[in-house]
Amino acid sequence: MNTSISDKLFAEAQKHLPGGVNSPVRAFKSVGRNPLYIKMAKGVKMTDVDGNVFIDYIGSWGPMILGHAHKKVIKAIKRVANEGTSFGTNNEQEINLAQMIKKFVPSVEIVRMVNSGTEATMSAMRLARAFTGRNKIIKFEGCYHGHGDAFLIKAGSGVATLGLPDSLGVTASTARDTLTAIYNDIESVYKLVEKNKDEVAAIFIEPVAGNMGLVKSDKDFLKKLRELCTIENILLIFDEVMTGFRLARGGAQELYGIKPDLTAFGKIIGGGLPVGAYGGRREIMEMIAPSGAVYQAGTLSGNPLAMTAGYETLKIIDEDKNFYKNLNKNSEYFYEGLRDANKKLSQDFTFNRCGSMFTMFFTNEKVTDFATAKKSDTKLFARYFNRMLEKGIYLPPSQFEACFVSAAHAEKDFDKTIAAHRAAINAVCR
Ligand SMILES: *Cc1c(COP(=O)(O)O)cnc(C)c1O
Repeated sequence: MNTSISDKLFAEAQKHLPGGVNSPVRAFKSVGRNPLYIKMAKGVKMTDVDGNVFIDYIGSWGPMILGHAHKKVIKAIKRVANEGTSFGTNNEQEINLAQMIKKFVPSVEIVRMVNSGTEATMSAMRLARAFTGRNKIIKFEGCYHGHGDAFLIKAGSGVATLGLPDSLGVTASTARDTLTAIYNDIESVYKLVEKNKDEVAAIFIEPVAGNMGLVKSDKDFLKKLRELCTIENILLIFDEVMTGFRLARGGAQELYGIKPDLTAFGKIIGGGLPVGAYGGRREIMEMIAPSGAVYQAGTLSGNPLAMTAGYETLKIIDEDKNFYKNLNKNSEYFYEGLRDANKKLSQDFTFNRCGSMFTMFFTNEKVTDFATAKKSDTKLFARYFNRMLEKGIYLPPSQFEACFVSAAHAEKDFDKTIAAHRAAINAVCR
C-alpha cells in the first residue's frame, strides 16, 4: 500500500496541530503507523489521497448510518447552503429535526440542539444539578461521555487507547464530584448511592456501551438502575450519542424498554455535520434558559445545514419501515461470517454485538465491563488492524471501539471483508 502523500501530509500536520490531529484516536498511535488522509467517501468506500480504496467500518464513528454522501442528504445540504449557512437566529429546520427526534424517541418531550455530543452531556449535567439541587454524578468505568472535565474519569476508548489514567488539567475538586461505578454491577452503584445519600444528581450511562469496545448492559441491571434512580430522586441520563437512531428507532431505551429522565444525542442526528442534542421530561427541560434559569447557549446551535442533514437522514430512515430490520439482518450475516472464519481457524475470540455495532475482543474471556475489556491483547489487535488495512478494510484503529455497519454495506462488501479477516487472523495468530 503506497501511503507517500498521506505520510507527507501527516509530517506537515504535526507542525501545526497537536500530534498532527484534531482528535486523538485519529493519530493511529496504538496501531503503530501513520494515519491516512481521506480524500473522499461515498457509500461504503473511502478513498485516501494516495488513491487507496477502503471498505469503511467506522462511518465517521457512527453518524454515517446511510453510508457516506447519501444522494438525498447531500442534495438537501446544497439546497439549504444556497440560502445561507448561518443566521444566528431561528430557522424552520430546527423545528423539523426536533419533531423527528420526538417522533423516534417518546421519552423526549422537549429537546435543545447543541453542536456536539460533548456539549449535550455537559449541558445535561448542569441541568441535572439544577433540577435536583445536588452536586455529584455517577458514571461507569469505560463509558465515554465526551471530553467535559467531570466525565474524564475512567473514560474508555480514546483515553484507554493512549493508556492515560485520566486527563491532566482536570481539577481535584471536579474529579471529587464524579463517582465511578462498575458497568453491569448494580451493587457497585448501590454502595455509591448509599455512601453519598441525597448528594447524587444524576447517573450517566451508555445503555449499550460503545467506547470500551461494544459492551451491552444487562437487562436486569438497567432495570434496577432505573428503580434506584426513581426511589432516590436521581436523574437517569442515557448517553445515546452513539446508540440513538442506531440500534432501533428509539435507540437503546426502546430496545430495553426503559425510560430515562434525560437523553443525550449526537452523531446520527447530524447526518455527518456537527450536532448534538439533549432532551427529556418537560418539567426538567423547561429549566433551561430562556424558559428557566439554567444557562446554555450556542452561536451555531440549530445551524440550518446541520439540522437539514440530520433531518434528511432521519426522514429516510422514517420512510423505510424495515430499515432497522434490514440493517440488523445484514449485520448478522457479516458477524456470523466473521465468527465462522474464527471457528475454522480454531480461534475463540469474544464477539460482542448489538444490532449494527460490534467488537471482536482479542481475548477468549467474556467481556462485560471495562476490566474484562482490558484483558484483550492490544498488540495482537494492532497487527490484525494493520493486515486488514493493507487488504482495504478500514476498521477503528483501537481495540476499545465498536465497528459500525451502515445501510450501504452489501453482501459483497461483507464477503470481501470476511476473506480479508480470515487471512489476517490466520497470519497474526500463527
Ligand atoms: C461520541 C460520543 C460522545 C461525544 O460526542 P462528540 O460529538 O464527539 O463530542 C459522547 N458520548 C458518547 C456515548 C459518544 O459515543
